[in-house]
Amino acid sequence: ALLITEECINCDVCEPQCPNSAIYFGEEIYEINPSLCTECVGHFDEPQCQVVCPVECILVNPEHVEDQQTLLEKFERLTTAA
Ligand code: SF4
Ligand code: SF4
Repeated sequence: ALLITEECINCDVCEPQCPNSAIYFGEEIYEINPSLCTECVGHFDEPQCQVVCPVECILVNPEHVEDQQTLLEKFERLTTAA
């Protein structure tokens, strides 16, 4: 899963791009729910939030480092549940 750092300027552009609705407005900045973020695996070739973020403040969440297979399984869980 990815993580939005405090460099976030609340520009709002990433939130509508997320195919998993993993991005939400937190207490001060936008945040990513790690259990919903597949790093866009299953939907796109690259993380859409990173592509659109103007200040490049979205990084891999060090507490949620996942390999491709794990991300794909998360994608499958999320799409089956939906
Ligand atoms: Fe959403 Fe993809 Fe960004 Fe994760 S990487 S928060 S799934 S847009
Ligand atoms: Fe914050 Fe980047 Fe999302 Fe804009 S695109 S709200 S700066 S994380």
